[in-house]
Amino acid sequence: MNRLVLLAVLAITAIAGAQSPPPSAWSADLADVRRVAGLVPGRRPLRLNAVKFAESRRTKNFSIQGAPADPSIQARTAFQVVYADGSLMVDAGMDQQVHRFFGRGVEEPYDATAARQVEAALRRARLIVVTHEHGDHVGGVVRGSLAGELAPKTILTRAQVRTLMTAPQMPEIRLSEAAARRFIVLDYDQYYPLAPGVALIAAPGHTPGSQMIYVVLESGREYLLVGDATWHMDGIRQIIGKDAPWITEDRAAILDQLRWLNGVMRAEPGVVIVASHDEEQRLALVASRRIGGGFE
Ligand SMILES: [Zn+2]
Repeated sequence: MNRLVLLAVLAITAIAGAQSPPPSAWSADLADVRRVAGLVPGRRPLRLNAVKFAESRRTKNFSIQGAPADPSIQARTAFQVVYADGSLMVDAGMDQQVHRFFGRGVEEPYDATAARQVEAALRRARLIVVTHEHGDHVGGVVRGSLAGELAPKTILTRAQVRTLMTAPQMPEIRLSEAAARRFIVLDYDQYYPLAPGVALIAAPGHTPGSQMIYVVLESGREYLLVGDATWHMDGIRQIIGKDAPWITEDRAAILDQLRWLNGVMRAEPGVVIVASHDEEQRLALVASRRIGGGFE
């Protein structure tokens, strides 16, 4: 190849490189999130509660790539946002059959009393949303005897419904077309004002239908329920993703989310970032009364 041809090839390669689409870049703006959470008129919520209904025993290296294989408890939790005149639920728990799927042949702790508390809270709730369409978060509203009662007050996103219909995490949570029609289905691009003091933040990554839920109380305390963006808060502190071979997620999007959450953590230490499965964090938040440890 003579020099001129080589230069031409390099130039074409450079242009092609410049024109290829940029890698996925997920971001959010906390100022926008706060503004959106203020759009629906009404009194803001008074409290946030969390209940753990099951556990998975997985060494920490699955949650945090490169971490030592130390024993670690993954809590399976649901959240209740309490208003003066009612409540809404974030995530819906799961029955014991779905729980067994997660154990992969190993019997893991399932707290039937706590699971009944979750069910009772779901029945009392005015509205239900889920952080994402995995069995431990959506099971309670897509299967079992309560599904028919709960679906009409449950908002699923279009992406969540699509996954549940076409590629559910497990056969037990597959939605038929008829069952899907019972839900309130929502499609939004970036943020959505769900209720007074509550905004949804689209965060595809862990699943196509993953979203974070921002909550600001009447007291001014703020929470970001980040679902399974990470399984342990170290993922946000260190900006390190999972290393679980059974998880198929958009790793680039997850890293963008961890980077953003790390920035929020540094710039806004008052915002309580809550990872669904971090048992150490749940215990600390309940002990310091930043989260209530039971449902009302
Ligand atoms: Zn989960």
